[in-house]
Amino acid sequence: MANSPANNPLDLKEQVALVTGGSRGIGRRIALTLAQAGAHVAINFVSNRSLAEEVVEQIRSLGRQSLCVQADVKVEEQVSQMVEEISRELGKINILVNNAGVTRDNLIMRMSREEWQEVVDVNLTGAFLCSRAVVRDMVKQRSGAIINISSVVGLRGNPGQSNYCSAKAGLIGLTKSLARELASRNIRVNAVAPGYILTDMTERLSEELKSRILDYIPLGSFGDPQDVADAVLFLASPMARYITGQIILVDGGMGI
Ligand code: NAP
Repeated sequence: MANSPANNPLDLKEQVALVTGGSRGIGRRIALTLAQAGAHVAINFVSNRSLAEEVVEQIRSLGRQSLCVQADVKVEEQVSQMVEEISRELGKINILVNNAGVTRDNLIMRMSREEWQEVVDVNLTGAFLCSRAVVRDMVKQRSGAIINISSVVGLRGNPGQSNYCSAKAGLIGLTKSLARELASRNIRVNAVAPGYILTDMTERLSEELKSRILDYIPLGSFGDPQDVADAVLFLASPMARYITGQIILVDGGMGI
C-alpha cells in the first residue's frame, strides 16, 4: 500500500532526538534530517558554539524545538547534566545518535598513550555514557532507538588508525550487546558504518591519499553526510521497527 503523509513510516513527529557532535559534518546533517522528518532535536558540541547555534536556528526554522548543549561526551558528569537539561526542555529522549568522534592518527610505534586514550574515550566511552544516561527513560517509556556511528575501518582495520579502528570496532560490540539487552523493552540499537564521507575529518587527508582511497571505493566517489543521515533516519523510524543489532555500511561498497 502506498504511504500517505498521514501514514508515513519515516515520520518522527512527537519524537525527541539527541545527536552528539551535531555542530558539524555528519552530525549536523543527521540533526537536520531528523528535524525534517518531524522530530524535536537537541544537539551536542564540545567547542564550536557558534556552529551549534546555527544548527539550532535551522531546526527551529523547520518548526521544531531545538537546543544545543556543550558537553564533552567522555566526561560522565557533563553527559548526565546534558541529558537532564534536554529532558527538562524538550521532554524525554526517544532517539539517541552517538555521532561525536575524533581521530588522532599515528603508527603504533609512535602512538602516545594520550592519543590512544582520547580516541577510545570520545568514540567508545562517550557512546557508553550517553547510552546509559538515556536508557532509563527509554525503559520507562518502553520504546527508543539508539544509533551508533561506527566506521567501515572498525570492520576492516586501517594502518595508522589502531586507536580509531579499535574504538569503532568496540562500538559494534556495544551495539550488538545493547540490542540484545534492551530488545525486551522495545529499544532498538543499531549502527551505521560510514566509509569516506566529505567532512572536516576527511578534509585533512592529502590529495594523494584521497586519490588512492578512491581506487578502493567500488561506487567511485566519496560519500556525502546526507548518505549517512538517510540511513540514520531509516533506523530511527518506525520503518525499521523490526531491525535491531545491525550494522549498515554506507561506504560506496568499500567494505564488501
Ligand atoms: P567532524 O566533522 O570532525 O565533527 C565531529 C563532531 O564531533 C563535531 O560536532 C565536534 O564538536 C564533535 N565532538 C568531537 N569531540 C567531542 C567530544 N569530546 N564531545 C562532544 N562532541 C565532540 O566529524 P565527522 O566527519 O562529521 O564524523 C562524525 C562521526 O562519523 C564520527 O564519529 C566519525 O568517527 C564518524 N565517521 C566519519 C567518517 C568520515 O569519513 N567523515 C567515516 C566514518 C565514520 P565541535 O564542533 O564542538 O568540535
